[in-house]
Amino acid sequence: MIKHILVTAGPTREKIDPVRYISNYSTGTFGYEIARKARRRGLSVTLVSGPTLLPVPKGVRLVLVESADDMRAAVLALIKKSDCVIMAAAVVDWRPRRSARRKIKKDGARNIELVENPDILTEIGRLKKKKVAVGFALETENLEKNALKKLKDKNLDIIVANRLTSKRNVFGSGPLDVVVIDRFGNRTRIFNKSKAKLAKIILDKALKFRIH
Ligand code: C5P
Repeated sequence: MIKHILVTAGPTREKIDPVRYISNYSTGTFGYEIARKARRRGLSVTLVSGPTLLPVPKGVRLVLVESADDMRAAVLALIKKSDCVIMAAAVVDWRPRRSARRKIKKDGARNIELVENPDILTEIGRLKKKKVAVGFALETENLEKNALKKLKDKNLDIIVANRLTSKRNVFGSGPLDVVVIDRFGNRTRIFNKSKAKLAKIILDKALKFRIH
């Protein structure tokens, strides 16, 4: 039975210097909706969130983080107590190799050397045992093929594949087209639904999921 759920949401910020960072357009909407719905169903919910402008859903325990490294530390500290992990965060894939202690001058940053961030979900996939792990994939091409590969590579139970097109802005509050794929190969294609409705569908699937 799933009682404790861990949700990640929002972007991460990877520091260049004290005033600049690398990030992405994630607003956190999807993860916050999932956390809100899970709480309404009576689950104990911890939300590990990067910087967003969203109000904290009532009754949800919030852990605020900034970088991918911070998010990793928070998630690994909380994973033991969770029965299900839903990684809706848009973790930035790279960070500057060094973040400068002082503000970099205009002519001091022609190149920023990047190193890869840890893949948190891959680590969860290795540690998870009977926990249910749900990931997200955002793709501009070969959506289902790439999502299926991610599901397998990261040892997930469910992946929510999000198509990024000029018609659908996946960032923020608009409706989406998604494909939900589970580790048994079941695919559910959903069109033009709000993130609130999708959050319910994803949660239903995660809570019903049985590890065989
Ligand atoms: O491989 P990709 O970044 O597209 O995978 C997306 C999924 O992996 C999302 O669920 C995201 O939260 C998670 N992820 C992660 N750590 C990263 C990058 C992505 O947990 N460094």
